[in-house]
Amino acid sequence: MESFPAIIVTEGASATLSEVPESALPEGDVTVDVHWSSLNYKDGLAVTGKGRVVRSFPMVCGIDLAGTVHASDSPDWLPGDEVIVTGWGLSETHPGGYTTRQRVRSQWLQRRPEGLSLRDTMAIGTGGLTAMLCVMALEEVGIGPGDEGEVLVTGAGGGVGSFAVMLLAALGYEVAAATGRPEIAEYLTSLGASTIVGRQELSEGSGRPLEKERWAAAIDTVGSQTLGTALAQTRYRGAVAACGLAGGSDLPATVMPFILRNVRLLGVDSVSAPSTVRAEAWQRLGSELPLHLLEVATTVEPLERVPELAEQILAGSIRGRVAINVDGAP
Ligand code: NDP
Repeated sequence: MESFPAIIVTEGASATLSEVPESALPEGDVTVDVHWSSLNYKDGLAVTGKGRVVRSFPMVCGIDLAGTVHASDSPDWLPGDEVIVTGWGLSETHPGGYTTRQRVRSQWLQRRPEGLSLRDTMAIGTGGLTAMLCVMALEEVGIGPGDEGEVLVTGAGGGVGSFAVMLLAALGYEVAAATGRPEIAEYLTSLGASTIVGRQELSEGSGRPLEKERWAAAIDTVGSQTLGTALAQTRYRGAVAACGLAGGSDLPATVMPFILRNVRLLGVDSVSAPSTVRAEAWQRLGSELPLHLLEVATTVEPLERVPELAEQILAGSIRGRVAINVDGAP
């Protein structure tokens, strides 16, 4: 019987490279030959066993995958179709993308968007998709590139942050990138940031419910006091899209920005986002993301390095996004 290399986590341990027999593939109506996956903060938590991401063990990790359909019981998908899956419980309740063959539910699949290779889709992955969903959330409440003032991106050196900087700048926004790593300022400027903000300016907090109005809007990947400060510094009728907790899941804030400045706080989730919303986000990523910058923000690594990279992403030392070359194909 065929078996496939996979990064598998067992309860109470960190994940290792192992093999999955064909007979152990989960239920689903489409089987995919996986070529690419990616590394996200959540993958760091799942692979190291440090966060409560995985709900049943043993589990193939990897919240993203891209590949070609191997076999399909769904009329919507044919062998050879190029597909992607992000979120939907991969690596939480359903085995994920760190393996060369996976079975999934047909309704989770998106077609490879025009303008992007499968490799590109995983350079983007959940991180890039989430950045686009944040941009779309801001647009939905009327924020636009013509607005006066900068849009703040926190955790800017990370995966979501790098893509938020890149997308906002490409769309014509003025971008302020907040980072705890002054050494990556040049990188952030190359992605389109016009101002670099020190992480501590936001994470220390002034204790004041309202501060000087600095930002037209913000995309926050950090949470905790950083999000509290972003809210207190957002201008009248501005908005903050909150998608992350790299600095903590608490939110020290008051209602003052909401009731006195009409600031909107917008939650963003990529895991269960409806397929129609994802399709729009992927189509826009295919047409609006500057591909030369995609390369600047992406590192490619092989499957066997995932356990080591998982530790690095939790330590905050990964810059931009990491695409995982699952099957070694170019
Ligand atoms: P990364 O690790 O790539 O990026 C996180 C960045 O946050 C780091 O690079 C660092 O940026 C900054 N950071 C790390 N630790 C701290 C800290 N203690 N205090 C302040 N800043 C810190 O992760 P991702 O980009 O993959 O994910 C970012 C966040 O978004 C995570 O919390 C993740 O769980 C969440 N997320 C949520 C999604 C959703 O659907 N809502 C989807 C994807 C991600 P720098 O060094 O530049 O300061």
